[in-house]
Amino acid sequence: MKGAAIFPGNRTLGVVTDVPEPGLASPTEVKLRVLQVGICATDREIAAFMFGTPPEGFDYLVPGHEGFAEVVETGPEVIGLTPGDLVVPTVRRPCDDPACIACVNDRPDFCITGLYREHGILSMHGFMTEFVVDEARYIRRVPAALRDVAVLVEPLTIAEKAFIQAEQIQMRLPWNRSNGAGFAPHAVVLGAGPVGLLGAMALRVRGCQVTVYSREREPDPRADISRAIGANYVSSLDCSPQQMAAGIGNIDLIYEATGSALLALDMINVLGRNGVLILTGVPGAHQPEPIDVGALITNMTLKNQCLLATVNAGNDAFDRAIEDLAAFCSLWPEAVRGIITGRFSLEQFETPIRIAAGIKNIIEMAS
Ligand code: BGC
Repeated sequence: MKGAAIFPGNRTLGVVTDVPEPGLASPTEVKLRVLQVGICATDREIAAFMFGTPPEGFDYLVPGHEGFAEVVETGPEVIGLTPGDLVVPTVRRPCDDPACIACVNDRPDFCITGLYREHGILSMHGFMTEFVVDEARYIRRVPAALRDVAVLVEPLTIAEKAFIQAEQIQMRLPWNRSNGAGFAPHAVVLGAGPVGLLGAMALRVRGCQVTVYSREREPDPRADISRAIGANYVSSLDCSPQQMAAGIGNIDLIYEATGSALLALDMINVLGRNGVLILTGVPGAHQPEPIDVGALITNMTLKNQCLLATVNAGNDAFDRAIEDLAAFCSLWPEAVRGIITGRFSLEQFETPIRIAAGIKNIIEMAS
């Protein structure tokens, strides 16, 4: 099969034509024809050889973990999936340690040993190839109406997993338990990339008032999308975090989607009482930062604040992402489609995987 390939050994990228085509190896597996694959900062870091591990026996890694595909074949014991179904595969697969309570419970996103594998990232090929075979329980079905935008499901799962946890954390506040809603009346999203914008949409459908705080100065499509979903947009070039926060009131939740370590910690200064700061970004190449840890801890303790860092996502977050994406599409169809700003063929994958441009770039593998 054809596939994108990253060779960490000699630090090259290219399209290969000899990726072994997988077949069903167990009665519970499903074969998928890949339709689209999204590219994110993780892929760009892998393409810059900062990390990424080929599967055993390969000198290259097929990248791509934001997949969207069509079922072409199912094993005899597969229930609930049939050829022709549109699907999104999850990313992480369990470790082999029978003592890993997370993986034993099929929650490798919380794996304790760190020996998990990830499609397109760690010891498993990704989705930038023609066909993929995987266990049916890692394949989530997507309604046909979401065909245009289903490639956004995986980046949305980052927010969904975060908010599932934040909702549970904020149930520590007794009044949230009694009225059942409003876990974060005032939320701030840091960074208007796909993870930030999709997170902002997920907060809006939960009834939160949202401010998106990002670098780009208006006019900018990220600002337009933010406004279209009823969020406020503030450029960090024009307003300090304090100025941004001044008009908001008590900030109950900050969803960090920039990977900037200093900005993330700086935001604790504007996080409100009983608030939650959610970290999703991974600062790649970075310098050590001088910070006043005493002031930070004093502030956090005196304000009952909570710091939640989260990576990857389980089936629950994928299913909620699919439901929410359908809700976003009925509320703001143009804004959702506006997140996808670049479409490339497999042969062109080196351009978007090397250079960040636009909002979300995708590879069209098949139609
Ligand atoms: C992906 C996660 C993955 C993480 C770390 C992210 O870009 O969305 O699924 O776990 O990278 O490898």
